[in-house]
Amino acid sequence: MTDHPTVLRVQDLEPEEGLVHGFSTLDLGSVKVKDSRRRFAELLSLDPNALTTVGAVHGSAVARVDAPQERVDEVDALITDSPGIALFATYADCYPIVLWDPDHRAAALAHAGWRGTEAEVAAHTVQAMRREFGTDPSALKAGIGPGICGRCYEVGEEVATRFDARFVSSTNGDRFLLDLAAALHAQLEEEGVQQIFQLALCTKETPLLPSHRRTPDGARFGAIVAIR
Ligand SMILES: [Zn+2]
Repeated sequence: MTDHPTVLRVQDLEPEEGLVHGFSTLDLGSVKVKDSRRRFAELLSLDPNALTTVGAVHGSAVARVDAPQERVDEVDALITDSPGIALFATYADCYPIVLWDPDHRAAALAHAGWRGTEAEVAAHTVQAMRREFGTDPSALKAGIGPGICGRCYEVGEEVATRFDARFVSSTNGDRFLLDLAAALHAQLEEEGVQQIFQLALCTKETPLLPSHRRTPDGARFGAIVAIR
C-alpha cells in the first residue's frame, strides 16, 4: 500500500470528458522498462499496445498520428484526433505539455527541455493543431506537467542568454537559473492559449519523480495523452 499517487494529473484537466492524461511516478518504476509502461497504460484503462511514443530529439517538429505506431522519430510533439491512440513520451526534468481541444476532440503531447523551449515546440504544437484540426487557441486547455523548476534549474551563461531575461535569474558567479515552465507558459499565451494549468511539481525536489539533475541514473517518468 502507498499513500501517494501512482499517477499524477493536472487537476483542472481531470473533468474534461474525452481526455485521458497522466504522469507516472516512480511507484511504477522507470517507464524505460516495458512492464512499467504497460502498467501505466493499464492504470489509465488504455491498451498498452496502442502507445505511440514521441521520439524526442529536443527540437520543435510536430507530427499528426492517425493510427497507433510504436514510435515517431525526429519529433518532440504528437497531435491526434483519433480515439484509440495513446500518445506517450518519457521525461526526467524536461516538461510534458498536454493540449486538449474540446470542440474538435483533438489532443497533443509535447516534450520540452531548454532546447525544445528555445525552438518553441509549444508554439509549433498549437500551430499544428490549428492547421490540422481547426483548433481555436482560445478554446484550448493546456496542462504543463512536472519538470525541473526555476529555483533548481541551473544553466551556464551560454544557455541563459538564449532566453528572455524575464525567465532567467542569476546566482553567484557565472551560473544562472532558468524558469522553463514560465517560458513555456508565455509561449502558449503568445499563441492565444488562455487556459493554462500547471501541476507545479518540481522533479528535482520530488523523490517520487525521476530527475536527471538529482539522480542521473537514466530513470524516466512517462506522460500519456489519449482521447476516450
Ligand atoms: Zn525545484
